[in-house]
Amino acid sequence: MINNQQVDCGCDTIPQPLLSIDEALELLINSAQIIDDIQLIELDDALNKILAVDVCSDIFVPGFDNSAMDGYAINLKQDQINTTGGTTFEITDRIPAGSTGSTLAAGCAARIFTGAPIPKGANTVIMQEECELLENGKIEIYRPIALNENIRPKGNDIQSGDVILPKGRQLQPQDIALAASVGVNKLAVFNKIRVGVFFTGDELVEPGETLKAGQIFNSNRYALVALLNNLGCEVVNLGNIKDTFDATCQALEKLKLDCDLIITTGGVSVGEEDHVKPAVETLGQLDLWRIKMKPGKPLAFGKIENCAFIGLPGNPVSAMVTFLLFARPFIKKMQGASHYLNTSFKVVANFDWYRAKPRREFVRVRLERASSPMQANQYPKQGSDVLSSMVWADGLVEIPEKTTFKSGETVNFYPFNEMML
Ligand code: AMP
Ligand code: MG
Repeated sequence: MINNQQVDCGCDTIPQPLLSIDEALELLINSAQIIDDIQLIELDDALNKILAVDVCSDIFVPGFDNSAMDGYAINLKQDQINTTGGTTFEITDRIPAGSTGSTLAAGCAARIFTGAPIPKGANTVIMQEECELLENGKIEIYRPIALNENIRPKGNDIQSGDVILPKGRQLQPQDIALAASVGVNKLAVFNKIRVGVFFTGDELVEPGETLKAGQIFNSNRYALVALLNNLGCEVVNLGNIKDTFDATCQALEKLKLDCDLIITTGGVSVGEEDHVKPAVETLGQLDLWRIKMKPGKPLAFGKIENCAFIGLPGNPVSAMVTFLLFARPFIKKMQGASHYLNTSFKVVANFDWYRAKPRREFVRVRLERASSPMQANQYPKQGSDVLSSMVWADGLVEIPEKTTFKSGETVNFYPFNEMML
């Protein structure tokens, strides 16, 4: 259920809905459309792509009973099973991997190598280290021998007809290997989605240029492009746009033609210098949300024709954190991924939380990995402009609304190394 409480911020005529993080995320996720654009690619190009159809195996793996060891395949006679004292066997065959042996007579052994098919008649395999080669060419084994030792049965790994990789899975090296192991050489994956970006703010200057009074370097541009590249998006970057209504409209018009999503940072608060909001409202539709979170708060979400729009806040930490918490799951769902929500694990806060706050907070922390349970230390400056906190930290600790606690409290931790991919 969405909280319809309206809060008039006092500086704009249109009141903005005040949403919890969960409500905002639910609204976003529900409107994310999978971009159903599929291509068939080679295995070598499949890493990190998202599978568009289930992959099934039409073979058994292994395709035949085979030896798990270099050693001897034996046709144990009934009276040789589990007997004590030495047992000797005549060697009548040699089966390297890639070849097949002939039927093994009762009481005989075949030299066999790892992966080679178990010959007909053999009912166990003994590793070579346990066999003594006698001068008469026979082998002797000094321990009781059981049936079916060291035999990998047909279909042990995969049965014909099994779904080995489900649609929506983001392909990792082991997935690509598994496809190869059943003879699949091409995979149907979702195409990259196209994300258009631009940045507003006449105070922004490109790194490499010289700052004049009152100017700052544009860091969001580089954060956003890198975040999108990490997520496997195709980025259309228009760079800095003049902080005017017309320039903003032109940028949006250009991107909406061939992008699935437009993301901007800045210009979505309610100052009169913020033109992104009126421009999106003029060309399409826009919801401006005040989200009960810190860092962050303003988040714009809308649509221009078939192109979705997300407007992130301008402060660099807020821009990155709202990207990770909202834009990332939205994009992953558009990409067809079945796991699109961020996942956390439990750590212990190594700090007190004295003041209960109305907004949920995401604190930049570094983990003490040697401690058990793992402890999280917070960066001393948590301002939404302190970008160094993102570099120092290795993730975010979630502090629920209206909470106080003493050091030692168990909290949710969202690792950057998982959230950035
Ligand atoms: P805004 O939402 O446009 O009012 O911006 C909020 C704050 O974020 C201001 O201090 C801006 O200077 C800063 N900011 C906006 N865009 C960027 C950017 N691309 N890179 C770095 N800081 C930015
Ligand atoms: Mg601005």
